[in-house]
Amino acid sequence: MNPLYEHMATSVFERMSGLAAQHQAINLGQGFPDFGWPDEILDCAARAVKEGSNQYAPSRGLPQLRDAVAAHYNRHHGLSLDAGHVCVTSGATEALGAAILASVSPGDEVIIFTPAYDSYAPMIRRAGGVVREVALKPPEWRIDHAQLHAMVTAKTRIIILNNPHNPTGRLCDASELDTVAAVAREHDLTVISDEVWEHILLDGQTFTPLASLPGMAERTIKIGSAGKIFSLTGWKVGWMVAQPEMASVAARAHQFLTFATAPNLQAAVAFGLNEGDAWIEPMRKRFARARDRMATGLKAAGFDVLDSASTYFQCVDLAASGVALDDEAFAAGAVERAGVAVVPLSPFAETDPPRHLVRLCFAKRDETIDAGVAAMTRAKEILA
Ligand code: PMP
Ligand code: GLN
Repeated sequence: MNPLYEHMATSVFERMSGLAAQHQAINLGQGFPDFGWPDEILDCAARAVKEGSNQYAPSRGLPQLRDAVAAHYNRHHGLSLDAGHVCVTSGATEALGAAILASVSPGDEVIIFTPAYDSYAPMIRRAGGVVREVALKPPEWRIDHAQLHAMVTAKTRIIILNNPHNPTGRLCDASELDTVAAVAREHDLTVISDEVWEHILLDGQTFTPLASLPGMAERTIKIGSAGKIFSLTGWKVGWMVAQPEMASVAARAHQFLTFATAPNLQAAVAFGLNEGDAWIEPMRKRFARARDRMATGLKAAGFDVLDSASTYFQCVDLAASGVALDDEAFAAGAVERAGVAVVPLSPFAETDPPRHLVRLCFAKRDETIDAGVAAMTRAKEILA
């Protein structure tokens, strides 16, 4: 077997959900909502299963979904995309895999910002690339020009940006996006821009796609996910968006990963993208309310909660909350002894990872949040 996989840990999301099930704990670990998806899109999917095609979709996606993805971004961000820019994938995870396999050659250096989504580094290595980590520092987690610039060498080919950012819940500001774009232009780099959280904005912010910056459309592969837009993470319908030539190359990697994605779910996602603009704002309000409820409860229990303005996540600073354990020890104790699963942040970086932070998913019903906060309070009492 390949030693890369022999020595690889199981994904922290799978690990924590497994422990949550084993201990019948409230699962605030892996990021998925337990409420709030639109009924209409479920009805559409059900109809598509019964009445539509259940045979292979075209590899690059149903034409109506590729059109809908392009039209969605044209409407929301004033871009001028068409179906030729779009390749539909089985979730953003597959889109990331295809984009990395299609763009990284052996020996290429790829810059990622840590804490980083856990699939980036293993996929870069499997493509023969070398991972170069730029460590963002809490609590601001800002991208710094000098730090990024210092990481670029003659072998650097790719930057992977994740904005809005999992696990911190932070949205890059204009100057950070300018920094990434300037470094990419100056060194002729491709940017894989993981923008799956683009619509989960909780405080009225505006999202700017990296590809909309000057000189970036031709060097950006954008990654999107219907799972996030419609609160249906299990559907695993995602996409890559890039200039047509780049999209075609990336589609060749996709064709030998999954070839194609479930046609009925694609049809429902096309419906959702075309008809569901009005769902976005109420979704943001629901999640903002859930975030506030969880933050208020955790603060009342003496936890130090970091700000979060996007995604489903907020982080707790254990050290500042009077908990002396590191993130893994707290997460293990919390799920086993207090009945709540959280995600430790240290698996999101390899070099000098933060060990004093855990991530909680707030995209939950009131009763789940309240039970989760009560269990966190118990965890603090038992483990502090
Ligand atoms: N990238 C980031 C930053 C994510 O947070 C996630 C899922 N939470 C993904 C990619 C994967 O998305 P999908 O479930 O569509 O594969
Ligand atoms: N992206 C989700 C999270 O951050 C989980 C995705 C997964 O389980 N692979 O929790």
